[in-house]
Amino acid sequence: VVRAQGITRSFGNVEVLHGIDLTLHSGEIVALVGRSGSGKSTLLRIIAGLDDQHGGRLEVDGSRAVAFQEPRLLPWRSVRKNVSLNLSGGNAAARAVTALDEVGLSHRVDAWPLTLSGGEAQRASLARALVRNPEVLLLDEPFGALDALTRIEAHSLLTRLWSTHGFAALLVTHDVEEAVVLADRVLVLEDGAIAYDVAVDVERPRHRDDQRVVELRERV
Ligand code: ATP
Ligand code: MG
Repeated sequence: VVRAQGITRSFGNVEVLHGIDLTLHSGEIVALVGRSGSGKSTLLRIIAGLDDQHGGRLEVDGSRAVAFQEPRLLPWRSVRKNVSLNLSGGNAAARAVTALDEVGLSHRVDAWPLTLSGGEAQRASLARALVRNPEVLLLDEPFGALDALTRIEAHSLLTRLWSTHGFAALLVTHDVEEAVVLADRVLVLEDGAIAYDVAVDVERPRHRDDQRVVELRERV
């Protein structure tokens, strides 16, 4: 559903992305890891259509939705309104409630965003993305600000949403363990290029001593 070829992007005279090739197949979860400043968010924003590349080609089939590390909810709108905002088609409010129910927030639909916990706000942000039925979900460190336990809950939520909705996802994360647990494939962005592209074996239990995890951890 996403095919990027030779994507480049500069800020001033510094080229941050040197020609990225990336393919995201339908229903696939791909994690993008790399050091801070390696260009992960820049690449994600380009794929999300929030920024333009300077060179290369980007093809996206189907609709995209984005969730960031900060939930970015509008504080003066209810949780439900945040989710239904700019939603095309009928029944926006009802669809928002269904999406909020899916992320376990049916009891908070009328709440103000500032009264949500961090984990709840992040789930509302996922509901806001999900209600648009995206073919491609773009996630920029969506669980980065959560404590360890809440993060594990968020992982199983994402897996559950993925199995019912079947979106493809590009997940930017600092956390190699998270990448290996959630993704079918892990890409390492290094010096503006994809340095490493590894398929994760779903059949095998993913131990922290797994050779690939060790190798990935050394690279990030
Ligand atoms: P982190 O893991 O810390 O989020 P990242 O891999 O997402 O880092 P980017 O945010 O993509 O990194 O930034 C890559 C480089 O591009 C950095 O050096 C950053 O300072 C620079 N950069 C990003 N956006 C801009 C901008 N709008 N103007 C100038 N420089 C920018
Ligand atoms: Mg970033």
